[in-house]
Amino acid sequence: MDQLLGAHTSTSGGVSKSVDLAEKLGFTAMQIFTKNNNRWFQKLLEEKEIESFKIKLEHSQIKFVVSHDSYLINLCAKDKTILGKSRIALLDELERCELLGIPHLNFHPGSHLDLGEEDGIKLIAESLNIVHQKTQYFKVSSMLETTAGQGTAIGYRFEQLQHIIELVEQKERMTICIDTAHVFAAGYDIKDPKNFKKVIKEFDEIIGLERLKCFHLNDSKKELGSRVDRHEHIGNGFIGLEGFANIMNDKRLKNIPKILETPKGKEQLEDLENLKILRGLIQ
Ligand code: ZN
Ligand code: MN
Ligand code: MN
Repeated sequence: MDQLLGAHTSTSGGVSKSVDLAEKLGFTAMQIFTKNNNRWFQKLLEEKEIESFKIKLEHSQIKFVVSHDSYLINLCAKDKTILGKSRIALLDELERCELLGIPHLNFHPGSHLDLGEEDGIKLIAESLNIVHQKTQYFKVSSMLETTAGQGTAIGYRFEQLQHIIELVEQKERMTICIDTAHVFAAGYDIKDPKNFKKVIKEFDEIIGLERLKCFHLNDSKKELGSRVDRHEHIGNGFIGLEGFANIMNDKRLKNIPKILETPKGKEQLEDLENLKILRGLIQ
């Protein structure tokens, strides 16, 4: 089977429209927002829209869908009001995925501000336990994304993600997404072939490759270890084509869906260019 490849896809006009666009662009994997990503809450999905999404998806080439949560959610917010809102909003995001049959909800662990990493991690796990409790039999996974560690963001070390998982009661619900730009900015050198192998080995030892269910493929506008999160087109950043060749040709990573989150216009034609480059790296 060919590697599952695609990009974050617009849901302009309704979630089901994303399937049309992804199909048109030849994606076999996609990521969507199931609601406006800059808003806390939004009206429920309409039954008609849910059905349309499912039917279109079933008849499409798209074999993998992941949803990305709202940017406002912070599962370790210091402010109690924001923390409460974040937990309700995450629950809502999981419900939307469940209704749409989306198997993964990807999110950033959280930013601790001045609580400290240790307490931040505990609070994130507590948030997940509360939300999981309310969604006991949901199928959708809670997918932690690796971060660049910008500001006080947690998740820039594999150990931190593992620590969260250790504190989560329903561990079988936890999956991981590696964002290439984020890990690189966090200090993991995935550009150098030898070091790339070391990074994957480290991931496997600390978290376990069986939890890795998705890649966000983005080049990085910022240097290794910069801790700054800026996405760049594939090959134009500090990771470069060498770095992406490592990922595209690693046998253990072949079956893991890969999603672009690189800059794009309304028609997403830039995605086609980036995917062409990625496919060209496969030996
Ligand atoms: Zn993200
Ligand atoms: Mn990402
Ligand atoms: Mn990012």
